[in-house]
Amino acid sequence: MNIDINLHKNDLPDDLNLGNVLAVDGEFMGLNVSRDPLCLIQISSGNHDAHIVQFDRLSYNAPNLIKILNDPKITKIFHYGRADLAYIKYYLKTETNNILDTKIASKLARSYSDQHSLKTLIKEFINIDISKQFQSSDFGGELSSAQLKYCANDVIYLHKIHQELNKILEREKRINLYHDCLSFLKTRVDLDLAQFKEDIWSY
Ligand code: MN
Repeated sequence: MNIDINLHKNDLPDDLNLGNVLAVDGEFMGLNVSRDPLCLIQISSGNHDAHIVQFDRLSYNAPNLIKILNDPKITKIFHYGRADLAYIKYYLKTETNNILDTKIASKLARSYSDQHSLKTLIKEFINIDISKQFQSSDFGGELSSAQLKYCANDVIYLHKIHQELNKILEREKRINLYHDCLSFLKTRVDLDLAQFKEDIWSY
């Protein structure tokens, strides 16, 4: 597949219309929100395209991107949005509204498996073996073409994967449970940001 990869410095361009259902992912310097900066946000419209925003980490001034993330009329598909949403809220100072999540959908739909990584879902629903070689790499500086391709891979399949998971959730009558989990995601992220990392329901 030929992917149209676009790297944007600081923000999305003013005149870009990506449509109403977007796949979104982020790359960070590590997994500790307050220590490790948000480096990139990748967006795909689902048409073999990836728009990669590399932030000015002194200002995080990205009004066009923030507008899209905040817009309740634009659906955003994440894979494990729990992490991305925390970094977005911390660094871009915005709520992300109207969210879908392929990892939550997978855990509810694919109870026949304990594998819910993006790599697993791409294999099952797209039948492609992607490399996660660059998952732990330095996204803070100049990006190699291999890194850009890795970042693009994280968003270009999410539309199709979500569609397939949604079919299973409908068939198995778990779709309401899925939507209820999505409603709680913002709270789960706020608990993470408030350092309540454990399962607050556990005894
Ligand atoms: Mn990623």
